[in-house]
Amino acid sequence: TDYNITHIKEDRRLLILLNPKSGVGKGRTLFQKKIVPILQEAEIPFDLHITKFANYAREFVRSCQLFQWTGVIVVGGDGLLFEVINGIFERWDWSEAIKHISFGIIPGGSGNGLARSIAHCCGEPYSPPSLPAALAATRSHHEMMDLVRVETTSQIMFSFLSIGWGILSDIDIESEILRALGEPRFTLWSLARLIGLRSYTGKVYYLPADANITPCDNKMPSFDLSNNADLPSEVHLETNNGRQRLDSWYSAASRRSAYFSTTGSSYQSTTESDGENLEKPRMYGPASQLPCLTAPLPPNWKCLTGRFILVHASYQTHIGSDLFISPQGKLNDGLMWLLIIHASASRTQVLQFLLGLATGSHANPNLWDGVIEMFTVRAFRIEPDVRERGYLTVDGECVEYGPIQAEIFPSLVKVMVP
Ligand code: ADP
Ligand code: MG
Repeated sequence: TDYNITHIKEDRRLLILLNPKSGVGKGRTLFQKKIVPILQEAEIPFDLHITKFANYAREFVRSCQLFQWTGVIVVGGDGLLFEVINGIFERWDWSEAIKHISFGIIPGGSGNGLARSIAHCCGEPYSPPSLPAALAATRSHHEMMDLVRVETTSQIMFSFLSIGWGILSDIDIESEILRALGEPRFTLWSLARLIGLRSYTGKVYYLPADANITPCDNKMPSFDLSNNADLPSEVHLETNNGRQRLDSWYSAASRRSAYFSTTGSSYQSTTESDGENLEKPRMYGPASQLPCLTAPLPPNWKCLTGRFILVHASYQTHIGSDLFISPQGKLNDGLMWLLIIHASASRTQVLQFLLGLATGSHANPNLWDGVIEMFTVRAFRIEPDVRERGYLTVDGECVEYGPIQAEIFPSLVKVMVP
């Protein structure tokens, strides 16, 4: 590969957000020693912000003068990029922002799934602190990347990596206490989880890749808002019908009204009515095409019922630098790979599966007699039995244990590629 540094002609300026606590906590030194020289050599101006606490990057991105930069780079793990992406979708100008900005990730975390996936998809070697990732920052090459809109009963978020229920999420969350070890913590905890193998009860609904999303029949009202004068003063949304999604941020008690922004695909909400202090920012982003979380699904969806050791959806090749979960994944194929281990799998099979993750050999369906399945979907819903305890994770972060649904939005954002 040609690693010549490209000198820029265009007006580029980067925002760099660095998590000093990522991984084993060496991000700052690594950035100064390895990355700054490359950016200086390429004469790319940048503004560096060190995060001060969790959600610092998210708040920063939500409220900053974003358009002064052409790219946002995180130095950290997937968790930091998750904050940045979701901060973007909390901006009313999100649709302009995602056209303008490309996102980059310089791996420094203990979960570096996306950095590894981007390197893989571009046929680049991967070794943090990734030289290719740094060089990507000096160029203006980008690829489009799919994002997944995720909904639980308490929040809406946008995910770029995976949604998990079962053994992989258990390992990811429970091994937090071994953070000081860096990525090997996954391997160690895998063994522990295998000894105390658990399964979880619930339902998994999915829309197969070859089926179309039938937009939900009680769709959002739409208006021609090309002229601001047409803006309706208020649109009241019923909360006991299929579109209560619009307001799922808010407590059921709060009265609310909403109006639609000029794109018609997003909305804003005002809550002046009851004087409740609603701190939680609005989540904008493209509107869902699915029925709300409590409504029945269309007939072209399929359903699996029973006990599961694992249900994991991933949309990139890797969910960690040694976890080659969806070998056929692409950055922008508009597909999620749904991986299912039924409770009937034996310990030996689960062990073989976990070992296979490093090389991708687990993805061979002939190995598993149907106890492990892997197929592509466009949307899914998981309804765990909440009488049991467990974890649900989105891009490695825990979310509320309860119903969750997700749908893929093809090619929604730009990512920097080497
Ligand atoms: P890792 O891959 O090691 O988990 P990440 O960069 O993904 O590293 O960050 C892990 C978590 O740390 C993220 O959820 C993020 O919100 C949080 N975080 C970001 N900045 C800070 C900070 N300065 N102090 C503590 N936590 C932070
Ligand atoms: Mg994909």
